[in-house]
Amino acid sequence: MNYGAGQLQNICKVSKMQIPADRLCSLAQAIFQHGGADDGEALQVADKLVEANLFGHDSHGIGMVPSYINGIKAGELKLGAAPTVEHDHGSFILVNGNGGFGQVNGKATMELAIKRARELGVAVVGLKNSYHIGRIGAWGEMAAAAGFVSIHYVNVFGSSSLVAPHGGSDGRFTTNPYCTALPARDGAEPIVLDMATSRVAMGKVRVAHNRGEEVPPETLIDSQGNPTNDPSVMYTEPKGALRTMGLHKGYGLAVICEALAGAFTGGGVFGPDHLAPGRIINNMLCVLIDPGAFGHREAFDAEVEKFTKWVKASPPAPGVDEVMVPGDPERKSRAERLENGIPIDDTTFEELLAAGQSVGLDRDEAMRIVGN
Ligand code: NAD
Repeated sequence: MNYGAGQLQNICKVSKMQIPADRLCSLAQAIFQHGGADDGEALQVADKLVEANLFGHDSHGIGMVPSYINGIKAGELKLGAAPTVEHDHGSFILVNGNGGFGQVNGKATMELAIKRARELGVAVVGLKNSYHIGRIGAWGEMAAAAGFVSIHYVNVFGSSSLVAPHGGSDGRFTTNPYCTALPARDGAEPIVLDMATSRVAMGKVRVAHNRGEEVPPETLIDSQGNPTNDPSVMYTEPKGALRTMGLHKGYGLAVICEALAGAFTGGGVFGPDHLAPGRIINNMLCVLIDPGAFGHREAFDAEVEKFTKWVKASPPAPGVDEVMVPGDPERKSRAERLENGIPIDDTTFEELLAAGQSVGLDRDEAMRIVGN
């Protein structure tokens, strides 16, 4: 854990719900330990969740803790489960996550993938049957830091279907994320495109619902298939559904994610059989490529840098501060949140305290951990 905690000593005094990353991490770790996770596992998971908050993705941050605790109680999230290798042949490796923490499985899978890509120049690695692997960009960044291009296709089994097919009117699959990360030369920042194939991730609907805010237009339909900006349609029966991003194009990418992450790895494609309370299972296909494989590594870096400079030089449109490339918004958020702490809304905070209490973490102790 390296949040620059020394710079964050006074954050709790600024605002009750602007909490330093290291304290949030300690709270999540304590909740998981009370929930039965061992110390190392609890820290690894807490660290990755808080990293998602730092990167601006509260949907995949500490607000997931209550869902994970539900997963443990429902027997869907298997504490202490270690990933196992099911196939290992040439460039291909298949890992079974055995229902364990996705943060543990994701790291182990990427370590195998990076090692194989170093040996062969390419690695095609599947991870199946893992509990929630969180922000997919974290795995792309790991490969990029090791010098590899990495492409990730992911599908999801949950407690309900969430996303309507383009032209459909009810949820038939979930938010199937896609990520490609490009390495950069020393000292430069990687490009990291990391996105749900739904208009927004479901966690962002949860965050808007908890904050009493509307979601952006074209995000949701109600149970009749009519467009709505009201997140409560996902929390009342009969439920509405999320829409895919980019209309038929995002829908097409979601279908590809389902096929490559689910069918190719053997983890399975979404269907009613895969729904269960407390379940958030991810399957992921990763393809790692050595960008120097054709003998042009320096040219690759230079060309990507040239293009990045070119697009960023576009004059910002009215109301826009700066033109960015994928990965920039997350890095900006991290810098700002390390400085000012992570904003946690009252509902999310209350849900965290309740999750802790449900596994025996006293509320006063939880408040002490976050410094309030
Ligand atoms: P998002 O819409 O906030 O960002 C998507 C991508 O667009 C990012 O790469 C970001 O850097 C880029 N971007 C955003 N604004 C930009 C701008 N102005 N200029 C240039 N690039 C810009 O992300 P999302 O789709 O809401 O997904 C959020 C997170 O949810 C992701 O980390 C994703 O991996 C995660 N997720 C995980 C699961 C799972 O099952 N594990 C499911 C769905 C989503």
